[in-house]
Amino acid sequence: MSDSEEPQQKTVIGIAFGNSNSSIAFTSPDGKAEVIANEEGDRQIPSVLSYVGDEEYHGAQAKSHLVRNPKNTIAYFRDFLGKSFADIDPTNAHSSAHPIQHETGVAFSVEEKADAEPSTLTVSEITTRHIRRLQESAADFLGKKIDGCVITVPTDFSEAQRKLLAEASKATGLEVLQIIHEPVASLLAYTAREETSHPVDKTVLVLDIGGTRTDAAVIASRGGMFTLLATQHDYELGGRQFDDVLVDHFSKEFIKKHKTDPRENERSLAKLKLECEATKKTLSLSNSAQISIESLAGGFDFHSTVNKLRYDLLSKKLADQIVGLVESVVKKAGMDLSDINEVILAGGTSHTPKIASRIQQIFPSTTAVQAPATNPNALNPSELSARGAAIQASLIAEFEAEDIEQSTHPAVTVTPHLPKPIGVVIHSPEGDEGKAEDKVYVFLDAETAVPARRTATFIGTQVGGDVLIRIVEAKKESVDITPPKEVKEKATDEDDEDDEDDDEEEEEEKVIKRVTEVEKVIAEALLKDVKKGQKVEVMLNVAGDLTLTITARVVGGKGGVRGTVPG
Ligand code: ATP
Repeated sequence: MSDSEEPQQKTVIGIAFGNSNSSIAFTSPDGKAEVIANEEGDRQIPSVLSYVGDEEYHGAQAKSHLVRNPKNTIAYFRDFLGKSFADIDPTNAHSSAHPIQHETGVAFSVEEKADAEPSTLTVSEITTRHIRRLQESAADFLGKKIDGCVITVPTDFSEAQRKLLAEASKATGLEVLQIIHEPVASLLAYTAREETSHPVDKTVLVLDIGGTRTDAAVIASRGGMFTLLATQHDYELGGRQFDDVLVDHFSKEFIKKHKTDPRENERSLAKLKLECEATKKTLSLSNSAQISIESLAGGFDFHSTVNKLRYDLLSKKLADQIVGLVESVVKKAGMDLSDINEVILAGGTSHTPKIASRIQQIFPSTTAVQAPATNPNALNPSELSARGAAIQASLIAEFEAEDIEQSTHPAVTVTPHLPKPIGVVIHSPEGDEGKAEDKVYVFLDAETAVPARRTATFIGTQVGGDVLIRIVEAKKESVDITPPKEVKEKATDEDDEDDEDDDEEEEEEKVIKRVTEVEKVIAEALLKDVKKGQKVEVMLNVAGDLTLTITARVVGGKGGVRGTVPG
């Protein structure tokens, strides 16, 4: 086939569509996902559209119109998609165009054209316009027409909402290859970075702290398959609440000086909110931040500073709420904090150092917390969803529609999985200390999606003779071995002096040891006359109905034993 006859490769992108911000990403030919900056250089593009005269503004430009032109500026609309007016919480749209009731659900009435009657724009229409602008930015950057995309949505997006989102995107000529869950996309962004061909099995908690909401999900990653084990949401906890902490703080200062409350005037409040958001972001990087607003209220300018310690104290309650959400999603998954191998912090608010350190404190030190403040190699939390979506888009770009259905990660959530870990116990007549001992190895962790198959080899015996292999249902138990307080204080006295941020709270580092114990023996196999140091291979096959097939043999030897246990 000549070059000209080769099928044209589709140009596909990933889109993270948030209530506050959206991002677009693509995968370069070397497989790396990159987030695209729009014409203004923004990678986090506010999901805002504003109408002034005959112009439509988008992103950061539109967001700045929240001060001068709030009633023609549409913001925080994503979660309204596919909802009836009675079911929405309009609080976030308080300082922008107000949602109104419409036969299709929710709409906005804005002066879209100069000298014309206001138009009614449905949430679907606004979504189409927003996605069109994102598509144009991506096409501009890549210098190519964009054919398709993968879009991320929260795990609680309903079927109806997903359908409307797909239709709204299609209206721009953009084929939606797949809609995937935000936490799965964040996990994909990290797993794509691992250099192993077989991803390590682990249980991951994705904590997404955005602008208007916080979502937590526990995901089991087994053999490259993801299973959502539990999700939890807080719709009243996000970056906006952190902004409000500073709005209240500076308002009090302003009132003291000028006897007027900037929160009582809509325009002053809008100005203060925008500046407080910028101040808050500075505090994620430095120990203090300035705020400077010309003519804030009553004709008075406002200049002040705030330090990180103060801000952390003022926002402590919000951080407590986030910690509470994490604990409750782990509990909902029927797990213990020490069952979580990794925590991925996603969403813009996850840049906040204090939040990352608070999360790290509640987990044992063996749990990796992926956030800029706890790991210098962490990915940018604001970019995870878009990156994951771009990776998925490049993986499925050339698939047929039904194959995409098959590869849908959320579909994995309905596959059966192992309720308990399955272990292998090797009885050794002479263990490490010269005494007979049983060694328990976890073969398949709990929550492994089935069917599954694993093979492992063990040293059968240190002395030679018969080897008894038992396949067991295991039980993992956590033993808290946190050192007693006095010991810890002694150890930390010298090295913690200059950490000004930590002085109002004790930094508890938990040390939790995991012990695997046998709960129930499922099957036994005896391998006769195994030579000293010879290896024994055990193969376990778990069918979809949980039927187990066990095969055990001496490596290099003849024959072996095989048995089946119904599920
Ligand atoms: P949602 O759908 O919950 O509204 P989103 O996914 O649209 O959220 P994100 O970009 O994840 O939005 O998060 C936006 C929030 O993150 C804003 O409140 C913003 O102020 C905050 N944020 C962004 N960068 C930082 C930073 N460096 N430090 C602290 N907060 C930040």
